[in-house]
Amino acid sequence: MNKPRILFWHRKDLRIFDNQALIKAFSLSNAITSTYIFDTNYSHDFNASSRAWFLAYSLQELGNNWKKMGSRLVMEEGDPLLIIPQLAKKIDAKFVFWNRSIEPYEINRDLQIKKNLKEQNIQVIETWDHLLVEPLKIFSGNKNPYSVYGPFYKNLKSKMNLLGLYDQDKVVFQFKDIDYKFKENKTINSSDSVLDKFLKNIKFPGSNICPCRPGENAAETLLESFINEKIYSYNSARDFPSHDGTSFLSASLRFGTISIRKVWNATLNLNSDFANQENYLSIETWQKELVWREFYQHCLFHFPELEKGPYRKKWDHFPWQNNNEWFQHWSNGETGVPIVDAAMRQLNSTGWMHNRCRMIVASFLVKDLICNWQMGEKKFMETLVDGDLAANNGGWQWSASSGMDPKPLRIFNPYTQAKKFDPICEYIKYWIPELSKVSNSELLNGEISNLEKNNYSSPIVNHNIQQRLFKSLYAEI
Ligand SMILES: Cc1cc2nc3c(=O)[nH]c(=O)nc-3n(C[C@H](O)[C@H](O)[C@H](O)COP(=O)(O)OP(=O)(O)OC[C@H]3O[C@@H](n4cnc5c(N)ncnc54)[C@H](O)[C@@H]3O)c2cc1C
Repeated sequence: MNKPRILFWHRKDLRIFDNQALIKAFSLSNAITSTYIFDTNYSHDFNASSRAWFLAYSLQELGNNWKKMGSRLVMEEGDPLLIIPQLAKKIDAKFVFWNRSIEPYEINRDLQIKKNLKEQNIQVIETWDHLLVEPLKIFSGNKNPYSVYGPFYKNLKSKMNLLGLYDQDKVVFQFKDIDYKFKENKTINSSDSVLDKFLKNIKFPGSNICPCRPGENAAETLLESFINEKIYSYNSARDFPSHDGTSFLSASLRFGTISIRKVWNATLNLNSDFANQENYLSIETWQKELVWREFYQHCLFHFPELEKGPYRKKWDHFPWQNNNEWFQHWSNGETGVPIVDAAMRQLNSTGWMHNRCRMIVASFLVKDLICNWQMGEKKFMETLVDGDLAANNGGWQWSASSGMDPKPLRIFNPYTQAKKFDPICEYIKYWIPELSKVSNSELLNGEISNLEKNNYSSPIVNHNIQQRLFKSLYAEI
């Protein structure tokens, strides 16, 4: 008897290894055709030049992997609502498989596509893949979704200790057995030309210096080098932007060129090998960061309104000043506050910014320049290679104090932050070369003498004055 034909839709899972829906599909039938759609209704995957670059080269590798095995990845551009049912019909598919998403637009889109396919008698099979624990499988004691990170982390960690995350034999998709041939094969001729067109239009100048690297192979290499060389010093190194102390896996996790289970598993193997206290702390701190990612995804799934505005509604009434000139200075790395400008220049040049600096520049935009945090959220989404709705929104709401974090008002002093985390100004001098001859104490205090400024601007605001103003405006709400 013929095996049923399957259409497999890659979305935020641009990989073969440990791809839950792909494994499930293959267990049903080896007659699989895979596809990726550049969704023109929702360009979150490619509306920043850095992400367009990361996506395109990840797809190129994924396509080559499918080709090597005698199959291919069909790439299309347009509305998946139309394309998926058409493609399924063309190949005479009985099933369409995909991994589920937590983003509001994608959830609604998928529901509609499911309905359309059902009318054609095609069954959709969806699986969770992008998360360690499915959002509907973890709740607080009173059966509500978590809105505070601490208890979420504890519960998730206890689940992770119980779960055998994956069985090595089951996660490798058996390409060699793929049966690709299908009747209307010749009618689908798009793939390479769609990708070629996309590749030609990429205008990302930071491709050589971006620390995140596209594709499944590069993700493996990043994980390996982090685990072999950096993880044991993560706890002490992760906050210093001039040290390469973090994994740079954020874009790989965002696009799914690596599985979150593989990443978590890598930390479990270490735990059992090393009893040393500092090592243990470092591993746990990194796991906690992976759980922040998980937490924000769960939050967005349960509270989709986060996408549109503040979790704490009083912030809807905050009298933002939204000075556009200041915003442009912030955006371009020209505020006259060295640590802020260095960070924004790193973002604009490489598409990536160190986490400590993301918190510093976010606090500065919101609490010093008194601009609505959504302006910063948008700028980040237009620039970040790892720009992800849930993590970015979570990070901005945390920094603005409008989110789920119970701490009422957190204000970073950029000068104190620089003293603590860039004490010898390596990071500042690297990204603001015109200041490389200025003494560290002047840079850290933000009091650079006119003689040494070299066209670098004076601070556009005074931190202490703005902090007082912000607090008085906050008192109004
Ligand atoms: C204002 C703001 C905006 C942010 N926007 C994004 C974003 O769009 N996309 C994104 O992936 N991260 C975002 N972050 C979180 C964090 O800055 C990055 O994940 C991290 O800097 C990526 O570097 P890394 O891969 O070397 O991280 P590592 O330190 O090696 O951490 C490992 C992984 O854990 C996850 N992670 C770490 N910290 C966080 C965090 N605070 N929140 C959520 N996940 C985390 C990431 O997937 C990361 O790759 C934002 C943080 C802030 C404060």
